[in-house]
Amino acid sequence: MIFFFKILVFFAGACLGSFLNVVIYRVPLGMSVVTPRSKCPGCKKSIYWFENIPMISYLFLKGKCSECDFKISKRYPLIELLCGVVTLILFLKIDTYSQIYFYLFQVSIALTFIALFFIDLDHKLLPDSINLYLGATLLAYSAFQYSWKYMLLGFLIGGGFPFLITWLFYKLRGKIGLGGGDIKLWAALGIYLGPVDVVHNIFLSCLLGAVVGLSMIAAKVISRDNAIPFGPFILIVATLQIFLPDLYAQLKSLIV
Ligand SMILES: [Zn+2]
Repeated sequence: MIFFFKILVFFAGACLGSFLNVVIYRVPLGMSVVTPRSKCPGCKKSIYWFENIPMISYLFLKGKCSECDFKISKRYPLIELLCGVVTLILFLKIDTYSQIYFYLFQVSIALTFIALFFIDLDHKLLPDSINLYLGATLLAYSAFQYSWKYMLLGFLIGGGFPFLITWLFYKLRGKIGLGGGDIKLWAALGIYLGPVDVVHNIFLSCLLGAVVGLSMIAAKVISRDNAIPFGPFILIVATLQIFLPDLYAQLKSLIV
């Protein structure tokens, strides 16, 4: 029975992943996530519910549209798998069912991170609507745990500090360093991380971004003029801070 329940949680997570694929594709294009129904980009055939079962349909259709053989990206089933695994791991971490409330918040935050991560990779932007959703979720989640001073200060420093650096950089160099979406993401994260950890996030994600960016330039994957999306670095550090605090503390002690 317990095993069956775990399978059910995993599958529910994979279904959320299927919805996340729609969010990742449509939100940056300004499309509704509810209507119209998904269509094959190749032949415009509507996709039936039985062709939309997470991971299973992909395997069954052998990664192609049933009508026109249009290749379906491997990323769709992989994101479904990732969401299923994340939803299950978070579920296994709760001890009693009274924590289910916290669990739902954690799933919502983790899945929002995944959506922002892939949208930024695809489009080099973090949509306002998703940053706002994340901020509201983190506010509701934090309200049970922290004082309003902690949350307000985290929000103001998370947004204000990188804004100031970007403004100074622009005045000095005439270039925009960080995008507005990155700054809004930090403001949202600051609500939960608080004033100290959000500053740590800013420094560590800049460090991580610099290491990865310079390595990619050295390996000639990108040229010096290419901008790489910055959101993923913020999200990787925030994932460690929120979901893997022990690992985060160990990694931080190596650097600081
Ligand atoms: Zn097709």
